Amino acid sequence: MLFGDVDFSSLELPAEAQALRREVRAFLADELEGGRIVPHLGHAQFDREFSRRVGARGWIGVTWPKTYGGHERSYLERFVVTEEMLAVSAPCAAHWFGDRQTGPSLLRYGTEAQKRRFLPAIARGESPFALGMSEPGSGSDLASVRTRAVKVEGGWRVSGQKVWTSWAHAAEHFFCLCRTSPDEGERHSGLSQLIVDLHAPGVTVRPIRFMSGAHHFNEVFLDDVFVPDDMVLGEVGAGWRQVTNELALERSGPERYMTTFPLLVELIRRLTAGARALPMRDSSPSSFELASRTRGIDQRAREVIGRLAARLYALRRMSLAIAFEFASATDGRTPRDLGTEASLVKDLGTFFERDITEAARLLVELEPRPDSEDTFERYLAECIYTMPVGTIRGGTTQVLRTIVARKLLGAGASQR
Ligand SMILES: Cc1cc2nc3c(=O)[nH]c(=O)nc-3n(C[C@H](O)[C@H](O)[C@H](O)COP(=O)(O)OP(=O)(O)OC[C@H]3O[C@@H](n4cnc5c(N)ncnc54)[C@H](O)[C@@H]3O)c2cc1C
Repeated sequence: MLFGDVDFSSLELPAEAQALRREVRAFLADELEGGRIVPHLGHAQFDREFSRRVGARGWIGVTWPKTYGGHERSYLERFVVTEEMLAVSAPCAAHWFGDRQTGPSLLRYGTEAQKRRFLPAIARGESPFALGMSEPGSGSDLASVRTRAVKVEGGWRVSGQKVWTSWAHAAEHFFCLCRTSPDEGERHSGLSQLIVDLHAPGVTVRPIRFMSGAHHFNEVFLDDVFVPDDMVLGEVGAGWRQVTNELALERSGPERYMTTFPLLVELIRRLTAGARALPMRDSSPSSFELASRTRGIDQRAREVIGRLAARLYALRRMSLAIAFEFASATDGRTPRDLGTEASLVKDLGTFFERDITEAARLLVELEPRPDSEDTFERYLAECIYTMPVGTIRGGTTQVLRTIVARKLLGAGASQR
């Protein structure tokens, strides 16, 4: 059967995850009401103080062992935290990468000393990490990275250039994918991951600004930067395998279909002026109620919102199915390889995010301004400015579709 082993089973969240959802919602409502956070859409905001407050609640490193500052809760509880943060576009960038990628990689490949040094600090929201993978000419085809690390006494000397490095100007460290032995035909061997201190001598970080002028990502230049031996992550030469495992985690979460969700909420609020305030406060996921909130608006708008709500429902179940697989693998079982499922979520999810922006643009007649006092108008402007990013970051549409097609055709995948 076509896609016979691609599985998005139907699932229900357990009571503890529902209870956690209520707690996170109450916390976020309080943050918003107190003016401590002001959401912006398009690219998560970096706010160390907010990350500390989230860490203090125990909502970073939710699934990690307590020995390393984690909370030994399930992947489903982590899923719920992520979903609620995205529902109000909370400023999570200071802990997002550490929580989703760096932490799990450290748990899997890190030395005992690395785990003890970094994981508790990440879980407290005090150790922001960035990801140093892409380079000029090496994005989709990561195996072609040219940043080189040369062995010297006590460590490595690293030289090269990274690009599109989100929050490198605000983070403390990044995982740097580099070549530790020459490419002699076998492109995927000879790569390693080093943990680089972004304030070390020889590191220069320069901004690349968004169309709006906002500063989120950077170029990072590494000029003979010394990295001690104890900052090698995992095995020297095994960087490719380590990075591709990280990417499966990067692609399947709610952040791949919910980054414009607050605009959808504001759109409905605008179309149904006078309706009850959103987001909803009961235990059901906010998405499910959207369609029923559209009574009183014109037929065309209702159809558009209805379709978007149905897609959100489907995407959420796909993403949740992957979280369930991770949740059931905590008892020592290795999770199935879910690279294809994750690619499907990201591909469908990022187009869904775009379609929300398009729907808002077409259904409401106005010239959106990013400095508007009106939330809908501001969100719409922010989403339009950053519209291209979703289908590029974390793997482009074409690359994801290649991964899915390879599964369909039964061939192995070799790109990111
Ligand atoms: C907002 C944002 C944040 C980012 N943050 C980070 C970060 O923190 N750290 C980091 O390392 N990187 C980051 N990136 C970089 C991102 O991962 C890369 O942009 C992405 O992997 C694509 O690489 P590229 O830009 O080099 O494009 P290329 O790989 O050069 O691709 C250019 C075009 O060619 C297509 N293409 C490439 N290969 C194939 C193929 N085999 N078959 C068909 N089509 C193909 C692509 O789909 C694309 O349309 C970020 C990017 C964005 C937009």
